[in-house]
Amino acid sequence: MPRKIVVANWKMHGNLATNQQLLQAYLDRLSALKNVEVVVCVPYPYLAQVQSLLQHTAIAWGAQNLSKDVVGAYTGEVSASMLRDFGATHVIIGHSERATAYCESDENIAAKFMQAKAHGLVPILCVGETLIEREAGVMEMVVAKQIDTIINLYGAAVFANTVVSYEPIWAIGTGLAATPDQAQSMHEFIRHRVASHNQEAAASLKILYGGSVNPQNAVQLFNMQDIDGGLIGRCSLSAQEFEGICQAAC
Ligand code: PGA
Repeated sequence: MPRKIVVANWKMHGNLATNQQLLQAYLDRLSALKNVEVVVCVPYPYLAQVQSLLQHTAIAWGAQNLSKDVVGAYTGEVSASMLRDFGATHVIIGHSERATAYCESDENIAAKFMQAKAHGLVPILCVGETLIEREAGVMEMVVAKQIDTIINLYGAAVFANTVVSYEPIWAIGTGLAATPDQAQSMHEFIRHRVASHNQEAAASLKILYGGSVNPQNAVQLFNMQDIDGGLIGRCSLSAQEFEGICQAAC
């Protein structure tokens, strides 16, 4: 069975002192776990801190966003090569909290996905539907559009060795996770969508589930055929809960 990936998304939490404690606790608790790939995505100012604490360890790190542009007059933006300068290997793209608060379009998100790839970063592309969309039964249509924007602009082969995270918006930070069956069904749909264009890319694509994952529900979620790991918000801020989730992935 391929190794699962568990990604911590700290969002806008932490400071130098609390990060130091949390990262040390991650190292103490997670170093013995060999069968899971762990990545921690931190706010930009702390990339240097994670680099100095995590280099030469098994835990990788990344950011929560990046610019779609390479370099230039883009005040406040951070480029893919800047992330590489601090040893980042992964970057979250198109998280719904950004897509709604900062009006990111699917095309913008697609351009960021390609920037990440062009600079050797693994993009973690977030997709998912709102509660209204689920209740209306159009969740597959919504997710298909997010995936298809990238396929139509750049071809399905770009999904090779990347990560998609299915994050139903109604499950993020609400304590109400998708059921294992709901998640599995969407993961299978996403894999088929890519496979219908490019089988090889679909086979190397990792599909994570995100949205109120905790140590208890992680066991069943991670047992599903097409769930390759998780993107973890709230529970990544507790080393104990994060360890429980990483153990469920082993
Ligand atoms: P949550 O966040 O685990 O707090 O629901 C997940 C995410 O937004 O990535």
